[in-house]
Amino acid sequence: MVFDKFKEECGVFAVFNHPEAGNLTYLGLYALQHRGQESSGIVSSDWTQHHAEVGMGHVNEIFTEARIAALKGRMAIGHNRYSTHGQSLLKNAQPIAIDYARGPLALAHNGNLVNADAIKERLEREGSIFRSTMDSEVIIHLIAKSRGARLQDQVADALRQVEGAFSLVIMGAKELIIARDPYGFRPLAMGRLGKAYVFASETCAFDLIEAGYVRDVKPGEMLVINEDGIFSSFPFAPAPTHHCIFEFIYFARPDSNIFGENVHTIRKRFGRKLAQEKPVQADYVIPVPDSGVVAALGYAEASGIPFEKGIIRNHYVGRTFIEPAQSIRHFGVKIKLNPVREVIKGKSVIVVDDSIVRGTTSRKIVKMMRDAGAREVHMRISSPPTTHSCFYGIDTPTRSELIAATYSVEETARFLGADSLAYLSVEGMLSAVHERRNDYCTACFNGRYPVTTGIVESQLALLDRRPEHPVTAAK
Ligand code: AMP
Repeated sequence: MVFDKFKEECGVFAVFNHPEAGNLTYLGLYALQHRGQESSGIVSSDWTQHHAEVGMGHVNEIFTEARIAALKGRMAIGHNRYSTHGQSLLKNAQPIAIDYARGPLALAHNGNLVNADAIKERLEREGSIFRSTMDSEVIIHLIAKSRGARLQDQVADALRQVEGAFSLVIMGAKELIIARDPYGFRPLAMGRLGKAYVFASETCAFDLIEAGYVRDVKPGEMLVINEDGIFSSFPFAPAPTHHCIFEFIYFARPDSNIFGENVHTIRKRFGRKLAQEKPVQADYVIPVPDSGVVAALGYAEASGIPFEKGIIRNHYVGRTFIEPAQSIRHFGVKIKLNPVREVIKGKSVIVVDDSIVRGTTSRKIVKMMRDAGAREVHMRISSPPTTHSCFYGIDTPTRSELIAATYSVEETARFLGADSLAYLSVEGMLSAVHERRNDYCTACFNGRYPVTTGIVESQLALLDRRPEHPVTAAK
């Protein structure tokens, strides 16, 4: 693979026409930290030139007062990057900032382009030189090569050639361009702060800066914001809406509203539905913090079984997936979660988490519960079995590493060492989003990929071989 696929979970933010654009972008990125902790960057514009501050790590580690002060101008874009495996490199940090024939250009991207490899190969044959391994860099090259008269024509030209997921904030010297792919895979919201326009992956970023939510950027919409005003167009071929359901399951913050719904509300409905579909008797419902908390509340409410905080999360370590090497990731689980023995000892517990990917986390949690004296451990997962990789921007390993791609629920339960294991059904999950249920991408649960270009055959076909997996080595 030429590009770092499956690594483009990210958060983007943009401000137009505010004297503290750089500072606000810093705060916006702070609120969007959950969407990416590998690197972070801000590029501002003083209408003549761009100023860039980019670094590895968390937002509050990178941006000192001096670095924020260096972000001059009334317009800025920012990006948090998420990476889990492969190399974590500064050259892959965004926004990508360059100078080209028309002056400064900066771009920040959330999503994953499925045909980036093919475009990159073509461009390299024609002499283009790439400096990163990011699919987003392809867009910069396509913009620079376009013969369009204005920046917005060049951007539209470039984006018509790419396929897959993009929620983009792009900045020239004097204008901001916002674009969302026609499927609407990733969220992107518009807000106002006085006279300024602000854009963010999630509305939680607006709360911190006291901006008001205006509306979502529509799937397939391109917005141009400059001194003449704000202009909307739909320059791409239309496509059926396919919002990423996994944003509700795991990725987005519960206080955000995305795709027209509140994340907390939907997540709780997943839990309620799970309790109705997969009931079990127990003393307590215990969430895996933080990802399982809201669904566990729903499960407890619907089942009438008391909710207990039986697992404590150390908030000063990052998320499980941050570490690039598998061995460190396992270590991460261990240092992150700890049992409250007094709650668990002698009790039968229902442990609720949002998803099982490789099965590693749940397995450790079940062991942790048993070691803490649990009598019975029932795992309940507030999403269906993850059987397929995501190609549109959620970090997932290859299919052969997804435990549900090869093993049955019973086999997985054995691997976890759980007394029982049950998942929310696809039907149940979609019933939580009510009448707009056809507007969601559920490919990671059923392989129905809305865009298949660039996806290797082996990822689409059913796995015909059972890869090495330590199912038999359980407990
Ligand atoms: P695993 O140990 O591979 O089964 O991972 C499952 C855990 O990872 C669950 O606790 C999920 O909350 C979390 N998770 C699921 N999807 C992702 C993702 N794309 N990025 C980071 N963490 C995830």
